[in-house]
Amino acid sequence: MRDYRDKVCIITGGGSGLGLALGRQLAAAGATVVLADMDEAALQREHAALSGSVYIFRVDVTDPASVQALVEDTHHRFGRIDYLFNNAGTAVAGEIRDLTLEQWRKVIDVNLFGEIHCIHAVYPLMIRQGFGHIVNTASGFGMAPGPLNSPYVASKFAIFGLSHALAAEARGLDVDVSVVCPGYLDTPMVRNLNPVNADPAAMRAQLPAKFVPVDQAASIVLRGVARRKRVIAFPAYVGILAFMHRFLPPLFDRLAARQVSNFRKIRVVEGDGDRA
Ligand code: NAD
Repeated sequence: MRDYRDKVCIITGGGSGLGLALGRQLAAAGATVVLADMDEAALQREHAALSGSVYIFRVDVTDPASVQALVEDTHHRFGRIDYLFNNAGTAVAGEIRDLTLEQWRKVIDVNLFGEIHCIHAVYPLMIRQGFGHIVNTASGFGMAPGPLNSPYVASKFAIFGLSHALAAEARGLDVDVSVVCPGYLDTPMVRNLNPVNADPAAMRAQLPAKFVPVDQAASIVLRGVARRKRVIAFPAYVGILAFMHRFLPPLFDRLAARQVSNFRKIRVVEGDGDRA
């Protein structure tokens, strides 16, 4: 963790889950941390419990002006920005046929445009200062497209691709780029999963894997970032599923079909002449 001492880090989605755990560990490692989130109450609450050089900033990543203010304020206060943890996210579970366009738009706005806004604000500044590291949180779903979470899958595949394209351009400009692809983490996002047209507890019971504890996830991310890894994917099943999707599509399809069929056992829609 020596690499993070005295570094200035912005973490979006810093009020909860993975972002908060990253903030806690970075502060303990001697970094200056700006936790940025739209949930101001969570920021206030968590800030009171944290020690070290930690600041909070209310941001809505879907609003470019709000993101610009976050980046300018941080740069103005500390004179540099070493790391952007582009981490705020949201999800809506359920079948595509049950989703509204508003639900699609919200997930794409937060997960994709949110990260684009942050890159747009911080990348030119990092180029000018001659250093910096952008860490985009995608997901295991950005490498292996499981069903029943499609807006999320679409946004995270986009982030995975964007991160590689950005890395190729940033390479000669002394800016590093990593993309984080975790499997299921034990955070409010999964604990409070609220699927469309299905009982939350019943759907949670169907999730395949054991959840990674959030502090363990944050340590894995920070080790990977310190090593300047391009892709930080964990646990092992993420790599296995991505391999299966790419090289063993019939097997991947069978797995996905099983998930859909299990979900249809708990899907509740009344009077729609439903086919399953
Ligand atoms: P979380 O719900 O605990 O935290 C997400 C945070 O983002 C919340 O504090 C929320 O207020 C904030 N946020 C949402 N919309 C925002 C907006 N418009 N502006 C600013 N902040 C906003 O979830 P988490 O699990 O810690 O998720 C962190 C990241 O990790 C997300 O990008 C998520 O997609 C990704 N991820 C999570 C899992 C998982 O299983 N939990 C797995 C893979 C990837």
